[in-house]
Formats: sequence, C-alpha cells, structure tokens
Amino acid sequence: MTLSKFDYYGPKTVAEAVGLLGEIGEGAKVMAGGTDVLVRIRHRMLKPRAVVGLKRIEGLNGISCGPKRGLSVGATALLADVAAHRGIRRLYPGIAEAALGTANVQVRNMATLAGNLCNASPAADNAPTLLALNAELTIQGPGGERKRPLEGFFKGPGVTDLAPEEVVTAIFVPPPAERSGTAYLHLSARGKHDCTAVGVGVMLAMAGRKCRDARIFISACGPTPLRAPQAEQMLIGQVPTDKRMAEAGVRASGEALPICDIRASADYRCRVLGVLTRRALQAARDRAAKKG
Ligand SMILES: Cc1cc2nc3c(=O)[nH]c(=O)nc-3n(C[C@H](O)[C@H](O)[C@H](O)COP(=O)(O)OP(=O)(O)OC[C@H]3O[C@@H](n4cnc5c(N)ncnc54)[C@H](O)[C@@H]3O)c2cc1C
Repeated sequence: MTLSKFDYYGPKTVAEAVGLLGEIGEGAKVMAGGTDVLVRIRHRMLKPRAVVGLKRIEGLNGISCGPKRGLSVGATALLADVAAHRGIRRLYPGIAEAALGTANVQVRNMATLAGNLCNASPAADNAPTLLALNAELTIQGPGGERKRPLEGFFKGPGVTDLAPEEVVTAIFVPPPAERSGTAYLHLSARGKHDCTAVGVGVMLAMAGRKCRDARIFISACGPTPLRAPQAEQMLIGQVPTDKRMAEAGVRASGEALPICDIRASADYRCRVLGVLTRRALQAARDRAAKKG
C-alpha cells in the first residue's frame, strides 16, 4: 500500500513548528520518528493534509540525567538512546527497561519516547514507569510554554489533553527518591513484534524495613494507562514481604479494566497482571535495598 499524498514541513525551531501547526490548522499532523504516524497513513487510518516533522529541530534530542537534577529527555530523543543511556540505567532502571522492551531494534532506532506518550496507545510501554515516577511534560503552544504532570494527560485511546497546535518539547522526571527502586515488566503474545498484552511499571520507596511510598501503573488493561491505588495502599506503611506483594498483585489485577482482543483474553490479562505486579514490586524493592 502506498502513502497518500501530503505536504511535508521540516521546521528548524519549536516556534516555527507551532506556527506551522496553527497556520495549516485542521489536517496538520506532528511527526517525530513516524513509527506510528506513517503506519497509520499507510493503512489509511490517518489522512493528514500536512505533516510537521520535528527531527530537524536542533537540541530537541538531548538527554540530561543526574541524581540531583533528575532526568530530562528531549522530544526527539530516540528510545534506543534512552535504553542505552548509562545514567538512566543506573538511576531509573525501570525507564531503561521500558524503552528497551518497546518494539524491536529497528523501531527503537527511529521512535521517540515523547512519540510513545503522545500516541496515547493504552498499551504504550513507556507510560507506566514514567507515571510511577511522577513525570512531567513540557509543552509549547501558541500561548507559550506550559508544564503538566503526565498523570491525567491520557484521555482515552489515542487521545491526550494536547491541543492540535501544541508540541511536547521534553519529558522531565524528578530526582529518584531516597532508597527507592523502579521496575517495568510486560508480556506480549508474539515477543518483540507484537504490542504489549499486559505491562506494569512500579516505584517503591523504603524507610527502614517499611514501604514509605508505592506507585503502580498498568498498561494494556484499560482505555488509558491505569493506576492501582488500592494495591499501593496495601504496601504503604507495611514491610513489603513477598506475600504482601503477591496480595498487592492480586488487588492490582482487580483494579484493571481489561478487554478481550486478539492479544489476550480479559481473564488471562488479569491473571498475568497479578504475577507481573508481584515480580515488578520485588525487583523495585531489591533495587531500593541496594541503595540503602
Ligand atoms: C513494528 C512496530 C512495533 C511496535 N511495538 C511497540 C511496542 O512494543 N510498544 C509500544 O509502546 N509501542 C510500539 N510501537 C508503536 C511506536 O513505535 C511507539 O509508539 C513509538 O514510541 C512512537 O514514537 P514516534 O517517534 O515514532 O512517534 P510518531 O509516529 O512520530 O508519532 C506518534 C504520535 O505522537 C504524536 N507526536 C509525536 N511526537 C510529538 C510531540 N513531540 N508533540 C506532540 N505530538 C507528538 C504524533 O502526532 C502522533 O500522533 C510499535 C510500532 C511498530 C511499527
């Protein structure tokens, strides 16, 4: 199937990109790596009049990471670069795991972290861990820059709270909390070539032997990435034993809203989610213990 015709623009600054989106109006589409956009155009699921590519904008692909300043990932930074970044692997292993677990090497060499979020797939691999870590988006629009938490950004499958002429310019993650750990685990029916059927990203922070804070987010089990607040409450203030984590996993699977589709049945998703949540929590706890 050939691509339908559209005009292509390659602005050199974010301001130019925002201006173009405003000028073209309806029918303009932002593109970063194009691994979602071009597939959708090819399959006639999307018929843009114009595509505004971000990859020629200088300085938008930077990654900055440190224990005091936190993590900042520019909008055109590739998933491959996020997965391989030594600072991210050390300070935010869950983020590196999610990036490495996304698609295959060819896709990761084109696709961006920001594109994965803006695409708003319920199965997006990178959303849960970033949500668990309280990530924040920097967004540029006609009225200037705004910042907003990633939590609440997803409004439904393929829908975010971005206005059509707005561009995400960066993703910020606060410095890791003391004695905290993160992890991301997922499962898909056909390995690297298939979308995730169940995914879970967690953050656990410890105080002594007890859990001080817990955040659990799930992908592919609802219309948007979901939080599991009841499972989190089962851990906070408690000693996170394997048994308690298994119970929290069961509770998380009760908080999910899975459907049956070609990737898995709802029942299978619930069962797997319980196991993945337990394992992700254990990994996060063990990582937090190493920092202690
Ligand atoms: C073979 C294959 C396998 C895949 N496997 C997985 C997988 O396992 N897990 C997974 O999560 N995804 C998977 N994907 C989906 C896709 O690769 C990811 O969502 C990717 O991260 C998208 O990034 P991109 O830069 O290519 O986005 P693009 O295709 O350029 O854009 C995606 C969407 O985000 C918008 N957008 C992009 N950047 C911005 C921005 N800065 N500001 C505002 N809007 C923006 C675009 O308008 C579009 O709506 C797969 C795709 C393919 C083709």
